[in-house]
Amino acid sequence: MMFEHEVLIIGAGLAGLRAAVEAVRRGSNAAVITKVYPVRSHSNAAQGGINAALTDRGDDWTDHALDTIKGSDYLADQDAVEVMCSEAGQALIELEHMGVIFSRDDQGKLGTRRFGGQKAARTFFVGAITGQAMLHVLYEQVVKANVRVYDEWFVTSLIVEDGVCHGAVAMDIRTGEAHTVRAKAVILAAGGAGRVYEPSTNALICTGDGYALAYRAGAPLMDMEMVQYHPTTLASNGVLISEAARGEGGYLLNSKGDRFMLKYAPDYKELASRDVVSRCEQTEIDEGRGVDGCVLLDLRHLGREVVERKLGYLQEVAHDFMGIDLAETPIPIRPGMHYMMGGIKTDVNGATMVPGLYAAGEVANVSVHGGNRLGANSLLDTVVFGRRSAIAAIEYAGSVRDMPKNEDQLKADQARIRRIVDRPKGLRTAAVRRELADSMHSHVAVFRNQHGMEAAAAKVREIKSAYEKVSIEDKGKVFNTDLVFALELGYVIDTAEAICASALTRKESRGAHYRTDMPKRDDANWLKHILVYEGASGADPRIAFLPVTITRWKPVERKY
Ligand SMILES: Cc1cc2nc3c(=O)[nH]c(=O)nc-3n(C[C@H](O)[C@H](O)[C@H](O)COP(=O)(O)OP(=O)(O)OC[C@H]3O[C@@H](n4cnc5c(N)ncnc54)[C@H](O)[C@@H]3O)c2cc1C
Repeated sequence: MMFEHEVLIIGAGLAGLRAAVEAVRRGSNAAVITKVYPVRSHSNAAQGGINAALTDRGDDWTDHALDTIKGSDYLADQDAVEVMCSEAGQALIELEHMGVIFSRDDQGKLGTRRFGGQKAARTFFVGAITGQAMLHVLYEQVVKANVRVYDEWFVTSLIVEDGVCHGAVAMDIRTGEAHTVRAKAVILAAGGAGRVYEPSTNALICTGDGYALAYRAGAPLMDMEMVQYHPTTLASNGVLISEAARGEGGYLLNSKGDRFMLKYAPDYKELASRDVVSRCEQTEIDEGRGVDGCVLLDLRHLGREVVERKLGYLQEVAHDFMGIDLAETPIPIRPGMHYMMGGIKTDVNGATMVPGLYAAGEVANVSVHGGNRLGANSLLDTVVFGRRSAIAAIEYAGSVRDMPKNEDQLKADQARIRRIVDRPKGLRTAAVRRELADSMHSHVAVFRNQHGMEAAAAKVREIKSAYEKVSIEDKGKVFNTDLVFALELGYVIDTAEAICASALTRKESRGAHYRTDMPKRDDANWLKHILVYEGASGADPRIAFLPVTITRWKPVERKY
């Protein structure tokens, strides 16, 4: 069967659904395609909140912009940060009007908490379910407007002819049939790539599909070396302990009981930016002041009432996974892979370098996060740039007259799928992914060096050739998750390849990219973006550079 739309949105997380709401408002024939039911997208897991500087609170968007730029270690494009921070207030109030019931303070006004790397308390939240509340409200709008949502359809390729994007090929997971979905414009809102690492705070579905789809379609990925390790994750399984714990006043202690952040970041302490806190923790652990490879997060001084009322969800996580009562006992935590600052290079309207292809949300790099994202700036990024990408994609779609009618990409993808299904018993997807993800966590994590990154890149190459031997046991058509995981592994490998290529290129330390063999930031040579293009027919990726846009904030040394 063949399907056709004006705009096709790939992804039903916050970025995709916000784009869909905008498309509906503008009367566009838009459709959403998603590999999981929309409200199961990873956005659902966001707990902490969303940033906005509201003028009537005595806050100012330029202060938010400066915090964001400083947090980015001056790698963010300042024009893009200005767009995000100046539109934040409107985006927040609009969400409230749509029905997101934000938590209130004692006066009944919208409540805030202070998140890391920020001078002001400007993080708005819905208890510990901010992402879930936002996602459900946006999905309600999409259902109300009768937007066509292809639930549980898995995108296998973008359709690109003569360098222009015209839609996607996707497999209906329920039937196993692949289809061509033509569109005049495509918005990729396919989320992050946590599973390129192990462990990760991300859902199992965050396998870098969007990065790889764009990369294979000729769009460059930018600053892929910038991988965020969140300071507080559980050692056993990578589950996130939200920054809200430190936002409400939690301490970090080493094995001696010292509150070590006082030494490293006297002003911001536990609320320095995430890359900084993760490095401090890892230093304590590496220098022998850790506790079984962790440090401790201590909430005891907040008292049981605050822990249970304001951080009740974390109390549940601590109890269920560790058997710990946070009001009584500090919990062991360590830095864990959390977020991709890097992504598909776009302008402030979501346009990628491939005509017809737009991107928004975590998969995109606009670039507002640069070398390090501030907590609660991602939810903001999804709604601001989800909306803007829809506006630009609709306008572009209006100029498209013809679309190719052939089914070449569909046939190629069907053949690729058949090869995997028909392959005799070989390597197992899970084991191959695990090997790759362990190597990324060992070598391209909080601290890096040339030797380690080369080892990771070599492992990626080895696994890329081994991918041709991956086989599946389920040979059926209906709900073949074995097949979906094998296809996802291909995306994981391409994303890892781009991360390693970018990381090996940057010969300095900046933001989350900290090289023990080159520990200094080097603005003279490296205040620039790194673009990674897929290499032609199996060759190494191709690298290019772009200048960073500086508007009014000159780069200075970063201190917290
Ligand atoms: C545990 C956790 C807590 C977080 N807390 C916060 C927070 O408090 N504040 C904050 O600002 N940020 C937070 N973040 C980050 C933030 O939640 C994410 O960056 C953001 O929600 C990503 O939204 P998205 O719309 O880009 O992608 P997602 O919500 O990940 O959605 C991706 C969509 O793409 C679809 N998709 C992917 N691949 C395919 C394919 N091949 N075919 C079809 N569909 C596909 C998926 O089905 C899904 O619908 C948190 C992240 C995690 C993991």
